Amino acid sequence: MEKLSIIVSVYNERDGIKAFFKSTKEVLEGLCDRFSYELIFVNDGSTDGSGEILKEFVTEDREHVRLIEFSKNFGHEAAMTAGLDYALGDILIFLDADLQHPPHLIPEIVRRMEAGADIINMVRTKNKTAGLIKNITSGGFYALINKVSDIRLEPSASDFFAIKKQVADVLRKNYREKVRFLRGYVQNVGFNKDTISFEAPERVAGKSHYSIKKLFRFSIDTILCFSNMPLKLGIYAGLFSGFLGILLIIYTLFTRQGAPSGYATIIIVLCFMFAMLFVILGIIGEYIAILFAELKDRPIYIVKDIMGGKDIC
Ligand code: UDP
Ligand code: MG
Repeated sequence: MEKLSIIVSVYNERDGIKAFFKSTKEVLEGLCDRFSYELIFVNDGSTDGSGEILKEFVTEDREHVRLIEFSKNFGHEAAMTAGLDYALGDILIFLDADLQHPPHLIPEIVRRMEAGADIINMVRTKNKTAGLIKNITSGGFYALINKVSDIRLEPSASDFFAIKKQVADVLRKNYREKVRFLRGYVQNVGFNKDTISFEAPERVAGKSHYSIKKLFRFSIDTILCFSNMPLKLGIYAGLFSGFLGILLIIYTLFTRQGAPSGYATIIIVLCFMFAMLFVILGIIGEYIAILFAELKDRPIYIVKDIMGGKDIC
């Protein structure tokens, strides 16, 4: 019998996690005649008592529920990576704990996987909780990354996806970057891909952990990790200012003007050039920061405790 691994990252989801557990378990029990399953909760350093509730789930159903406790908050990407590392299943399905990724779609995912897909990307048709600004900036981010990098990212893809064991093995072994974007790797490792559209409902409780500021930081890191294009901006800027210089030489020679009284012009040009220079320096700095993080090779996450997880369906 094939096994499903459902991987759920949890950070301060006290008020919604019980509803999530109940509905996901119902769906999985419905598949029990064909699949065994494990429900892996990764507690990403919750401080609101979610950890206690997760422990209750383990006590309630030790056979199916597994709890991985982080030593502190490492972020959603790290939590998904831990789930990936510990999952024993043949099909791995990644879900958010706030019911924005409807568990009732699991049977459809499984059906498509059985039909031959190795990767299922779940594409949001609507995200009710994301405001206008989030939707516009997210559109801009995907347009930019698809333009400047040689990878292709599906604009409305979510952290709701499913992969087969073979894909999981590749991601486990070969994608150990510290500055991470799992969803990006999933979409670019090849294999047979399929997509399912879904409407993301409102969060069942609590509020999003991603502020615009956090998303901006995350977007910058992702662009830098998937593209070398920003580094080339220095070359373009150099060529551009060299070209302007030549134009100015030609202009001066042909108009035979002496030193013009252009204090304001000089200051403006200087400001413009320095701005360009510092931005390029900043971009190089950002790449160095990523290089440094990789070089230090600190762990992506630290596990404090593991509980439960014996498989009998
Ligand atoms: N999450 C996490 N660690 C964090 C932030 C979030 O594990 O540092 C989890 C969170 O509990 C949820 C999922 O990641 O299950 C997605 O987070 P959220 O719903 O806040 O993001 P959004 O859906 O608004 O993009
Ligand atoms: Mg959410």
